[in-house]
Amino acid sequence: MTPRVLIVGAGPAGLRAAELLVNHGINPVLVDEAPRIGGQIYRLPPNVAGFNRSGKQLYGNNAAKAQALFRCFDHIRPKLDYRPSSLVFDLVDNRAELLREDHLERVDFDAMILATGAMDRVLPFEGWTLPGIYSLGGAQIALKHQGCAIGRSVVFAGTGPLLFLTAYQYAKAGAHVAAVINSGPRFGALSQLAKLAIIPEALWQGMGYLAWLKRHKIRVLHGYRPIRAQAAAPSDGDQQSGQPSDRRLGMLEFISESGDKLEVDCDAAAFGYGLKSETQLADLAGASFGFDVQNRQWLPLRDPYGRAQDRPGLYLAGDGAGILGAEAAELQGCLAAAAVLSDFGGSFDGFDPNAALRRLERWQTFRTGLELAFPYPAEAAAEIDDQVVLCRCEQVTAGDLRGITGVMGARDLNRAKALCRVGMGRCQGRLCGPAAAEIMAQLLGVSVDSAGRFRGQPPVKPVPGGVLGKPPIDALPGATIPALEQA
Ligand SMILES: Cc1cc2nc3c(=O)[nH]c(=O)nc-3n(C[C@H](O)[C@H](O)[C@H](O)COP(=O)(O)OP(=O)(O)OC[C@H]3O[C@@H](n4cnc5c(N)ncnc54)[C@H](O)[C@@H]3O)c2cc1C
Repeated sequence: MTPRVLIVGAGPAGLRAAELLVNHGINPVLVDEAPRIGGQIYRLPPNVAGFNRSGKQLYGNNAAKAQALFRCFDHIRPKLDYRPSSLVFDLVDNRAELLREDHLERVDFDAMILATGAMDRVLPFEGWTLPGIYSLGGAQIALKHQGCAIGRSVVFAGTGPLLFLTAYQYAKAGAHVAAVINSGPRFGALSQLAKLAIIPEALWQGMGYLAWLKRHKIRVLHGYRPIRAQAAAPSDGDQQSGQPSDRRLGMLEFISESGDKLEVDCDAAAFGYGLKSETQLADLAGASFGFDVQNRQWLPLRDPYGRAQDRPGLYLAGDGAGILGAEAAELQGCLAAAAVLSDFGGSFDGFDPNAALRRLERWQTFRTGLELAFPYPAEAAAEIDDQVVLCRCEQVTAGDLRGITGVMGARDLNRAKALCRVGMGRCQGRLCGPAAAEIMAQLLGVSVDSAGRFRGQPPVKPVPGGVLGKPPIDALPGATIPALEQA
């Protein structure tokens, strides 16, 4: 029997999975909430006149890899049931519920490959919800997808490779980068050279961004993390027009480990501390989870090919199964597709899983080096002031969470959610979850895994209520889809 395969995510992992399946006789359904393929790293701008940034401008040193992936898609496109702008918001048994633009669709599957990628990991500080403050990934999306900068004078803060990369991309595109401020140690990368040198081209690329920033006299500091954002004073024009723009960011304050403070004027800032995997769909699908010390996150358990433990028919690939980067995501996509082929009685001639697994081991070592070189400042969660907003969807403060932990005895995130609504809002705790877990664990004096994780709840991302009331279009592979025919 030819299985019906659903792939969620058209980034490097999902596209390579689709390619291997197509090349071996399976035409999958490929779904992505984004309007175009590429995922995060190879995100494409809208397909409209006026967006003329070249591949080199968009992807820099990775332009050739992006082109190779786009060619792969063009090649397999006729064999795919590709559904862009389609959010998988719920899973019930082997059926996925999709919001496709303005209507619902359903896809039944025998096997599903989740290649849902990652998002920024943040640690709140006073004023972090002011207009003008973005996550690093958000700032990069503004540039890559919309071709605009988040402000006139931008500070980049936090840590991890995306910090230097995004600052470099902004400066290269002509934006004014006021400063790049890494919370990690100055010689973090050098201290992990043995691990990072295992993928020399990635090491050189990362070092190259830092060297470029320095060569162009952009202020780069290490060992400081943001603790306070202050709004700019309203301009005369603002006062006359009565616009609320006086609340836009005007200054960021930082602190070093030794307590030195530093203020930087800016009208926008991007910050983040590495990435966290998008695991909600794996949760809804019924995967078992285990705590991953390196990622400091609960991740779906899987075998080396990506087969979910205890959940037949579910496969995981790419950053959504643990952060390893784009090349690793491509390899994991192939491995997951090979597992599907093998589990349903097919073959995957021409693909060498052992070579892929060996290469993945190297990426794993490289990733360990990155985590140590650019550490997540988890201990700083204890210093977040009580009045700081932690869950911005529900306006829950760090103090609210400490209150229900200390006074009402909540000992895990789901109990805390029931008592004070932390993680209850639109983002379902995707953004506040890691910081909330650190705050609870520190107050209770336990390790962060003891705080647990927010239970996955549908819809995993917001869906308009009006659409939910309409009947879905059952869209099995090969079925006629009226809305599509008209398009
Ligand atoms: C904002 C951001 C920017 C990044 N930029 C870079 C960069 O410039 N350079 C770099 O080396 N690395 C970058 N990374 C890391 C990079 O994402 C990965 O290493 C690589 O893209 C992983 O590939 P992937 O296929 O696993 O996931 P992704 O490329 O993230 O692709 C996942 C896809 O799944 C889709 N998806 C997720 N959930 C759903 C759902 N419920 N329904 C439908 N579709 C869904 C997403 O729209 C996305 O297109 C970035 C990460 C983030 C979060």
